[in-house]
Amino acid sequence: MLVAGAGMAGLVAAARLRELGHEPTLREKGSRAGGSMLLSSGVIWRHREWEEFRRECPAGDERLQRVVWERLDEAIEWLVAKGAPVVWEETGNPRTIGKRFEPRGVVEALAGELELGADGCDGEATILCTGGFAASPQLVTEYIAPAAGLRLRANEWSTGDGLRFALAREAHLSGGMEEFYGRNMPDAPWDETQLVSLSQLFARYARIFDEDGAEFFSRDDVSWSETNVVQATAHRRGAKAYYVLDAEALQGHVRDRTVAEMVEAAPAEARVGLGDLPFDAPDGAVAAVRVIASITHTIGGLRVDEHARVLRADGSAIDGLWAAGVDAGGIATGGYASGLAQALVQGLVAAEDAAT
Ligand SMILES: Cc1cc2nc3c(=O)[nH]c(=O)nc-3n(C[C@H](O)[C@H](O)[C@H](O)COP(=O)(O)OP(=O)(O)OC[C@H]3O[C@@H](n4cnc5c(N)ncnc54)[C@H](O)[C@@H]3O)c2cc1C
Repeated sequence: MLVAGAGMAGLVAAARLRELGHEPTLREKGSRAGGSMLLSSGVIWRHREWEEFRRECPAGDERLQRVVWERLDEAIEWLVAKGAPVVWEETGNPRTIGKRFEPRGVVEALAGELELGADGCDGEATILCTGGFAASPQLVTEYIAPAAGLRLRANEWSTGDGLRFALAREAHLSGGMEEFYGRNMPDAPWDETQLVSLSQLFARYARIFDEDGAEFFSRDDVSWSETNVVQATAHRRGAKAYYVLDAEALQGHVRDRTVAEMVEAAPAEARVGLGDLPFDAPDGAVAAVRVIASITHTIGGLRVDEHARVLRADGSAIDGLWAAGVDAGGIATGGYASGLAQALVQGLVAAEDAAT
């Protein structure tokens, strides 16, 4: 049994297979295990109410959403029992239930034998856990078609290997191939240690303009995850936007930080003087930040069933091929859901099906 990718889904699948008496080969293309999970905030969550999940991700495959929603609590307990360190017992968001884990501790808790620097999905039976195609500019252009290149806010190795491998074996694509989850980040240099701290997560307080001065998105329409404004930004010139703030907006709060603190944290190159805006600053404006749409992971991917088996166009399962985590598409379509939760549950589900 081959597990391709040692990020969240792959580590989970391999650990579960070992528990069930198998000796999987776990291949990791990158120079370290953990994938984007290692860069993440580590909050594994589900919507508190099923109806809320459906409302939030209305175009997602309901059967797959059910599996994640119903199995997550027990999956989190499994992870805790494996020794993964919990940082918060609750998410801190009243809409959601889950726990925050320490990512490096998750890797250590699930670690087993691993081939580093090894790619290839060609096992006799393979669980694809390669993390989607966010790191492939070519596939991002083909499926998401942004107005300009998106910045990568994730691991650099998820270039669509699982997708390409399965498509060559008659796999069918899920809905939502044009969608992605990401953040608007300062339009300035940053590195992978700053992916969380520099996120410009205050569109709900800002007036939002593009490079041509068009106010293309109303703050009243910004979703709680802000995914919708990031996707819209991707389609504006340069995949960029300006968040323009008045004095009241700067006092706004996002979790434990004020908007003023988040603006202050942005590199100077991205903080634009009002006189330097490429359009007339609106009345009352006191600050502006230029942001660029940045992709964390893709939302569309391979079409799978409730057992994480990869499906053909006619709905039949391809023998010996499963996909878990971001490689499997169609769950968060139309909105936002926890990528770690999907990877955890589908990693378990795929391993259990493969083991039988
Ligand atoms: C800054 C940041 C914050 C985040 N915060 C959260 C959060 O708080 N909560 C949440 O739910 N989600 C969060 N996420 C998203 C979450 O990290 C991902 O949804 C999750 O890691 C997806 O798991 P995965 O196993 O599908 O992919 P990954 O964890 O990215 O793992 C994919 C792995 O596959 C490897 N790979 C690629 N191609 C091959 C190949 N051909 N052969 C072998 N290996 C290959 C990659 O190197 C990588 O290790 C965050 C992400 C980032 C970047």
